[in-house]
Amino acid sequence: MADNCIFCRIIKGEIPSSKVYEDENVVAFKDINPAAPVHVLVVPKQHIESLEALSDENIQAVVPVHKAIRKVAEITGIAEQGYRVIVNCGAGAGQTVMHLHYHVLGGVNMGEKIL
Ligand code: 5GP
Ligand code: ZN
Repeated sequence: MADNCIFCRIIKGEIPSSKVYEDENVVAFKDINPAAPVHVLVVPKQHIESLEALSDENIQAVVPVHKAIRKVAEITGIAEQGYRVIVNCGAGAGQTVMHLHYHVLGGVNMGEKIL
């Protein structure tokens, strides 16, 4: 936990959020500024700054995140239609909250692939 981290504060319940899913390792809540009809952030409870901060010691934290992404897709009704998962890694990629998070986007035609 990092005191000045907005997602750690959401995890602790100090800042309200619209939770979609939670288990012992992960919390998933609606993005405050959604870019699609379904836009959920899936976040490990462990404070890890970004994908670049993953190491042999903390890499296990992403397994429950990937399990939770599929649960979130099921809960929000986008599993069958398909959805996009985005992780911005570093300020240069547009990461604004330095606590690893996966954007799950769907509920609309996601348009052209960029990759
Ligand atoms: P990033 O740009 O770091 O990949 O994504 C951060 C995301 O967190 C943004 O899409 C932003 O809208 C969302 N966000 C920032 N602050 C809050 C907050 O307090 N609550 C919620 N639910 N989302 C937030
Ligand atoms: Zn944090």
